[in-house]
Amino acid sequence: MRVVIAGGAGFIGSHLCDRFIADGHTVVAVDNLITGSENNIQHLVERPAFSFIKHDICEPFNVDGPVDLVLNFASPASPVDYLELPLETLMVGSYGTRNTLDLACEKGAAYVLASTSEVYGDPLVHPQHEGYYGNVNPIGPRSVYDEAKRFAEALTMAYHTRFGLNTHIVRIFNTYGPRMRLNDGRVVPNFVDQALRGEPLTVYGDGSQTRSFQYVSDLIEGVVRLAGSDYHLPVNIGNPNELTIHEFADVVNTLADNPAGIVYVHDGRTRDDPQTRRPDITLAARILGWEPRVSLHDGLAETFAYFEEQRKRAP
Ligand code: UDP
Repeated sequence: MRVVIAGGAGFIGSHLCDRFIADGHTVVAVDNLITGSENNIQHLVERPAFSFIKHDICEPFNVDGPVDLVLNFASPASPVDYLELPLETLMVGSYGTRNTLDLACEKGAAYVLASTSEVYGDPLVHPQHEGYYGNVNPIGPRSVYDEAKRFAEALTMAYHTRFGLNTHIVRIFNTYGPRMRLNDGRVVPNFVDQALRGEPLTVYGDGSQTRSFQYVSDLIEGVVRLAGSDYHLPVNIGNPNELTIHEFADVVNTLADNPAGIVYVHDGRTRDDPQTRRPDITLAARILGWEPRVSLHDGLAETFAYFEEQRKRAP
């Protein structure tokens, strides 16, 4: 296949590039590098099966030659990033999704939209199944991301029903692993970096809010299976292993042998912070035969190794 990956220089996008290349496909990565990095695809640039186009998908674009699959993984995805880039986040979820859908239509390609557990907002149903419509504050600090992704889902379904496009929607729950940006502000890079420095981990609020962390290779496997399926409605891909952020901090400190403990930060940063989050993955198990395989311990060990290496390169 010839595969176009929007956001191909990002954390998840670059892992998708690796996977499709490893499976013998040709990959065209498209990225404007506002939150992605060329470092994530440096190892691929000499490969004949790989090419990179620096482009903002909010502007229409074309790719020469045939395309079999378009994956739209372009967006700021960390709360810190999308608060700094509110308009870019709304535009890439709307115009960017439209332009990538148009590309898929023109090429007769299949399409995968990276959506998010944020479509469920601060959920009143637990765990979250795909039939839950969510509890999103449309004007809150997270709304630029949540509403952009909700719109992107609606647009993708409209292209499916109106044009018969072969579309897929993956709702991605908290995902971590190598190639997250050390300073992207999310809890995994923050805690790992703080633990490596021997500093206390910054728990926002009282730490009773929960998240369920999946390792990136599990997500990639789910996305590849979904892309090859004939299922068009949204599918959760995440690890149901739920922890409070306080428990998660303890896991990180224990793994890193960090005696510095925890500090609690009460500065309003947790406004609209979802209080609970855990995916119901019954659907993914049934239609894709998918379930996560990597334990939190093993995934964090890989992540620590990556961030240690990064810190050696740029202390
Ligand atoms: N968080 C924290 N300390 C940090 C960064 C984040 O306690 O240094 C909390 C944050 O308030 C949220 C959870 O960790 O409850 C996950 O945050 P993240 O930004 O990773 O992603 P989210 O799931 O909120 O989009």
